[in-house]
Amino acid sequence: TIPKAAYRRILLKLSGEALMGEENFGIDAKVLDRMALEIKEIVELGVEVGLVIGGGNLFRGEGLAKAGMHRVVGDHMGMLATVMNGLAMRDALHRAFVNARLMSAIPLNGVCDSYNWADAISYLKSGRVVIFSAGTGNPFFTTDSAACLRGIEIEADAVLKATKVDGVYSADPVKNPDAVLLKRISYQEVLEKELKVMDLSAFTLARDHNIPIRVFNMNKPGCLKRVVLGDDEGTTICH
Ligand code: UDP
Repeated sequence: TIPKAAYRRILLKLSGEALMGEENFGIDAKVLDRMALEIKEIVELGVEVGLVIGGGNLFRGEGLAKAGMHRVVGDHMGMLATVMNGLAMRDALHRAFVNARLMSAIPLNGVCDSYNWADAISYLKSGRVVIFSAGTGNPFFTTDSAACLRGIEIEADAVLKATKVDGVYSADPVKNPDAVLLKRISYQEVLEKELKVMDLSAFTLARDHNIPIRVFNMNKPGCLKRVVLGDDEGTTICH
């Protein structure tokens, strides 16, 4: 029998950097394939999966602007970078025999679907993984904002933010040896203690719409599945 998942529908946020693995730029095929298999495992539990992928492994608007480019153009490049990551992830999911659709907030006729809320819901209901790319479609936002936005739109039970660390700590563990991993914390406490979870516009959007954020370590194999099964992993941020 299939174990019961703690979530019915999730919005998983993967950073672009997570796809880089040990490389300095681009996509590590091994890491990509492992993530596709981890996603497959949770799809097989019956969980509906929306996915937002970042683009930081390729381009970030902020970095390009520092080098002299117009910020808006840099952000356009950053958003297109997330579409490239989305194409790679859709391909990896298909190779792993997982049904997946790629949508872009910037229409790219002939490359992928354009974002459409109603279509996304019906794909999710039919068990397909839906990859939401091009962020929010607007400059000056991040893919964390896109993750919270799409998570709220699809009425996900939580935004699962995959990171390189085990969760949110009471203080910066590099500077403070007494820092402890928090299991559960309120939005308010995160703001008061200035703990770094997401940028503020993404975070307050999640808070205002009361969607929990779960931060966990995607570098730990099997962690995503344990999170989805309700095991004791990572940090949950809620009211
Ligand atoms: N971006 C944007 N609007 C959005 C989402 C992303 O302009 O709604 C651009 C922005 O330049 C950002 C880049 O796309 O730096 C890549 O996204 P992000 O930095 O969030 O990727 P991650 O850090 O998750 O890899």
